[in-house]
Amino acid sequence: MNLLKDPFISTTKGKISLKQLLTSEQDYQLQYYFDETQLAMLQLLPSLTTVVLKPNLEDLERYLTHGLSEQEYDQCLIKVDTQWFEGGCFMQSPMPQGVKVADGPITKLVSGIECGSSANALGLFSEVEHVDVVCPDCIHVLNYNLHMNIKGECFGPTGATGIRGGGSISTLVSRPSLKETVFANTIAIDEFIKETHLTEEAEQSFMWQKPPQGEIYYAHTIGLERGLFALAYHINFPIEEKDCVCGVCGAVSDQSVTTFQRVKYTGSYGSTKNGRDGKAGWWLFPYTPISVKEDGVYPICARDQNWQSWQELSSYVVGKEVNKALIEPAYIVRQFRKMIPINRTSLLIGGNIADQGSIVGRVYDLYAMPESLSRDNSKITKVIDAGLEEKEKLSLALNKIFGIGYDKNFVSGIKEQAIQSFICNAQQIIQQILQDVDRKEAKLLRADAILRLTQVSHRIFSDVQRKYQYDLPLFRALVKGESQLNRSSSFKEG
Ligand SMILES: [Zn+2]
Repeated sequence: MNLLKDPFISTTKGKISLKQLLTSEQDYQLQYYFDETQLAMLQLLPSLTTVVLKPNLEDLERYLTHGLSEQEYDQCLIKVDTQWFEGGCFMQSPMPQGVKVADGPITKLVSGIECGSSANALGLFSEVEHVDVVCPDCIHVLNYNLHMNIKGECFGPTGATGIRGGGSISTLVSRPSLKETVFANTIAIDEFIKETHLTEEAEQSFMWQKPPQGEIYYAHTIGLERGLFALAYHINFPIEEKDCVCGVCGAVSDQSVTTFQRVKYTGSYGSTKNGRDGKAGWWLFPYTPISVKEDGVYPICARDQNWQSWQELSSYVVGKEVNKALIEPAYIVRQFRKMIPINRTSLLIGGNIADQGSIVGRVYDLYAMPESLSRDNSKITKVIDAGLEEKEKLSLALNKIFGIGYDKNFVSGIKEQAIQSFICNAQQIIQQILQDVDRKEAKLLRADAILRLTQVSHRIFSDVQRKYQYDLPLFRALVKGESQLNRSSSFKEG
């Protein structure tokens, strides 16, 4: 199987090849059981497309508007050294001699499957038997996911941190069809070179062709295609001649993969502390929003299990200055802004929240974006700000319960729970409100957001009051908080 030639992409209409996906008029839908595999495919496919088409911004715009013909794909493919995309070779750098090899069940490459001792790996899919065997097509997306999205710490001392940093958030441009989504996340070579100032000296070969050397992996020495598939492990997937039903895509296969072996690379990327200290520099991974601080660049990660992505949506789209750091949208969002808008776009935000492979700690959120990302940014900011302001008001109102001499942990628990409930409810509301982002004026969108979010914060506050109505000191404090909440809201309930 060759990833640039053969069908390995699982869709609702069966397995298709990259060429079929990019050149057909059919609208394919990816078919993978786990949203994290889906997300990894949405990163892997545009990266492969970048290797085949090597487009500039103008080409990409043309592909998005007019599509790509089979002949065009074939012509581009002639220039690619496709041997590196063979199934037994792609992203698998051979193990060095005489090192200790770590191995594990294939299940470990899917988050949320409990096969370690981590208390956090709970969830819907928490059954090892659900993913104890996969087909050889799916090892590539699992391998890619390991290198790009899974935190090295999940594997303890044998885990490595890749070029993007561990467990960083991904933002991708989502279009009405899978084909358009892949084009929209393909890298325009001219734009990328302009932003990164990559020079001739940057190494172009893939890491499984020529693994990086030395203790520090300097960003400026890593060429675009090398970086898009940068490795952090030597890896091997032993293939058994045995039938299976794949636990990742559901396909029937006459070959099975149940384990993988790995040895981590010993050098450090600029995404790690070692790398930053060694002045490795940040390699501009296209799907990672970053925080630029005085001492270096950090990938944006989700904070904790209760975190919801809407709170940082403005910074993923527009960028934002927060204390001593500048949050910058991922390269792919900035690249997309330079293209001529044609129709609706959404932003997909995904990743792992918790340190452990927890399914409850996953993000996979879709937000409707204005047709022109560059013109209407204030619309998004206004909606998000409304949410953050309301959260602050609720927080201030709840602070009244700290003054009554109760145990601090007890009262902060009450507050924390109420705030979490708000953040969680606001997620859906903001997603719904942004559905109208092209149809409504910024002022109206904001008014809508304020109205609905205020209703939520008032409802949550009333719930807390009801719960503690017989605890007089608490209740009195909450009454004070309530009048403060009412005063600060432009909307009054009832
Ligand atoms: Zn499969």
